[in-house]
Amino acid sequence: MKTVYGLMINSGDADEMLWDHGVWETEEAANSYIESEMSHISGVWVGELKVNDSIPEAAEYQDDEMVECPLCGIEYNREDVNTDDYDEVVCINCEPGYKENMNIA
Ligand SMILES: [Zn+2]
Repeated sequence: MKTVYGLMINSGDADEMLWDHGVWETEEAANSYIESEMSHISGVWVGELKVNDSIPEAAEYQDDEMVECPLCGIEYNREDVNTDDYDEVVCINCEPGYKENMNIA
């Protein structure tokens, strides 16, 4: 677990976290964001949050060995996916169908 800082606002009957704005590593950083970006909104303050260290996205990108194909959702070794020819990652199994769809469109 680690501590991050997010923006809180009181929505009327409860305090709410403004997840859309992101979170910060330090309270100072969150405060300066409020000052520069949220100064027109009153009643916003910095709240402390405990989060799990292994945030899924972070873990995904740290792992260089396996690449998940977004089309079939299966993880492959880098040599089994085509990351160069298309906008998205396509695995060897999906590539024939993916190519076909591109030609139709
Ligand atoms: Zn695939």
